[in-house]
Amino acid sequence: MKLVTYLQNGKEQVGLLEGETVRPLPYDSMNALIETAAVKKLPSQAGESVPLDAVRLLAPIPRPRQDVVCLGMNYHDHLKEAAQYDAAAFTKEKPVAVYFSKRVTEAVPPEGIIPSHRDLVRRLDYEVELAIVIGKTAKDVKPEEAGDYIFGYTVLNDVSARLLQTEHKQWYFGKSLDGFTPMGPCLVTADEFAYPPVLDISAKVNGELRQSSNTGNLINSITDVLVELTRGMTLLPGTIIATGTPAGVGMGFDPPKFLKPGDVVECTIQGIGTLRSRVE
Ligand code: MG
Repeated sequence: MKLVTYLQNGKEQVGLLEGETVRPLPYDSMNALIETAAVKKLPSQAGESVPLDAVRLLAPIPRPRQDVVCLGMNYHDHLKEAAQYDAAAFTKEKPVAVYFSKRVTEAVPPEGIIPSHRDLVRRLDYEVELAIVIGKTAKDVKPEEAGDYIFGYTVLNDVSARLLQTEHKQWYFGKSLDGFTPMGPCLVTADEFAYPPVLDISAKVNGELRQSSNTGNLINSITDVLVELTRGMTLLPGTIIATGTPAGVGMGFDPPKFLKPGDVVECTIQGIGTLRSRVE
C-alpha cells in the first residue's frame, strides 16, 4: 500500500494512493493508523476515490511525535567526500554508526518550500535518504526479526546548514531548522519490498543528477541499526529513522554546490517516488 496524508477542503485526511487517485481511510492521522496496525490488521474499507489533483498532499507524517533518529555518514562514498570537505568534523575512525537527531516541528510536504534562512544560514545543503517508520514497539530486537518491526518506508531530505552543523560541534541545530525536513510523497508499507530493501536512490538539483546510489550500499544496515538501538532504547510506533545519504551532496563538490533560493531539489527512491521541493 502507498499511504498518504492530504488536505481536502481544509481537512487533514489519511488515505490510500492508487495511481492518480486517493481514497480516504478512517483514521485521524498517520500516527493513529500506524498505532492501530501495531495491534490489529487494518480494515480494508476505504472511502470514495478522489482525483489526486483535487487534494494537496502533506508529508506522510506531517508532525512526527519525536525527533527523527538519523544516521550520519552511512554510505562509504559520502564518508569520503565529507572528510575531504572538513576532515576534523567528519573523519570517522571506527566503523561504528553515527547517530544524531533532527527536530521536525512540521515536515515539508511534497512540492513544498525549503526556507533558506538567509539571515542565519550559510552553505545550505541537501541529503536524499531512505527513512524507515517503526510499526510496533521495539526493544531488544533480534536480527532475524528486524524486518517485522518496520511499518514502511518514505523519502526524506535531510536538509543541512553546513556552517551551523560544524561550528556548533553537535549537529542538532544545523539539522533542525524550520523547513529542513521534506518528506514524502507517500509512505510505502514494508510488505511492498523485499527485506532489506535494495532500492535505487538519487537526488537532482535543477535537473542535474547529484546523488545516485542504492540503499543496498548502507554501511550500517537497517537490521544493524534496529538491533543496536533497541539494546538500550525503546522505539515506539511511528518512530522515523533516516538511514543516511550517499555521495553527491553539495559540500562534496569542489567547489561546493550549495543550495540557493530558486533551486529545485528532487529526491527519488525506486518504488516510493519523487519528493520535489523548492528553495526560497
Ligand atoms: Mg543525513
